[in-house]
Amino acid sequence: MVRDRILHHISVTFFYWQIKTHDMSELNIREKSLWLFDVDNTLIYDVDHPVVFPDALRLWNALMENGKTNAVLTNVGRLSSRQIHDVLKSVGFQTERNRTFSAGGAAAAYVHNRSPRARCFLISEGGATEDFVAQGLNVTNNPPIDYVAVAADRGFTYAELNFATKMVRDGAQLICISGSFEYRGVYLGMEDVYIGERSIVAAIEHATGVSSVVIGKPLPEIFTETIAILGYKADDAVMVGDNRTSDIAGGNAAGLTTVLVKRDPNNIVQFDSQGYDDKPDLSVATLDEVITLF
Ligand SMILES: [Mg+2]
Repeated sequence: MVRDRILHHISVTFFYWQIKTHDMSELNIREKSLWLFDVDNTLIYDVDHPVVFPDALRLWNALMENGKTNAVLTNVGRLSSRQIHDVLKSVGFQTERNRTFSAGGAAAAYVHNRSPRARCFLISEGGATEDFVAQGLNVTNNPPIDYVAVAADRGFTYAELNFATKMVRDGAQLICISGSFEYRGVYLGMEDVYIGERSIVAAIEHATGVSSVVIGKPLPEIFTETIAILGYKADDAVMVGDNRTSDIAGGNAAGLTTVLVKRDPNNIVQFDSQGYDDKPDLSVATLDEVITLF
C-alpha cells in the first residue's frame, strides 16, 4: 500500500513536472530581456508597509546576474516615481530611477505629449504632483484649467473636489491616475481601508456627466509606452505581478508574457480589467519557481 502511494506520488509529480516544463519551454521565458515588476504585493507588501518578499528579491538579483533589464511599473499614484524608487532602494532592490514608472508619471507623460504647457489641477497626496512638475507641466490651483488629474488622496477637501468638478464642467479634461476603487494603507499613522482614486473621480463624473480617462494598468498603452521608452518590444518583455485585473489583463492585452505570483489575497486591489484576458501565461506560488528556469 505504502509503495503504491509513493509510486502514485512520483508519477503525479513527474506528470506535473512534464506539464510545467512543457509550458515553460513554450513560453521561452528565459530568452526575455526586459522584466517589468509590479510593486504592491509583488516586490513589497505595499508602499505604506515596505516589507520585502524575499523570493522577489532573489528573482530580481538572479535576473540581474543573468544580464536582464529589470524595471518597475506600478499603479501607485500617491507617491511619485522618485519616491517609489527610493522605497525599493531602501529595502534592497537595485533599481534605476529612470526605470521606475508610476501611474502619476505615466499620466504626466500623457498630458505632456498632448499639451506640454497645460495648466493642471491635481488632487494628490503630492506624489503625482511631483511627477507632473518634473515633467515641466504647469501645476496650479487657479483657472483656467486644461486638465484635472486625480490620484489617491486621503486629505483632500470639499473645496478641492468642488473646484475640480467646476473646472471639468467648464471643459477641463478629467484624468484618473490609476483606477483603484479602494485600497489598504496607513495614513497619519492610521491603518485602514481607504477610498481609491476611481471612487473619488466617480463623484466628479456623476456631477458633470463627463467620463474620465483612466491612466494606469490595465491600460495597454501604459505597457507599450513603458517598453518603448526602455528600448524594447512587447515580445522581449515579461510582466510579473500579483493582480489579474491590472498586471495580467493589461500585460496580456499589450502582448507581453505574464507571470502571476500568488500573494496575500486580502492585499489585492481591485481594478476594472476592461474585459481583457486575465489568464496568466505562468502562475507560480513563489517567484523562486521562475529562478529555476535560469
Ligand atoms: Mg500589486
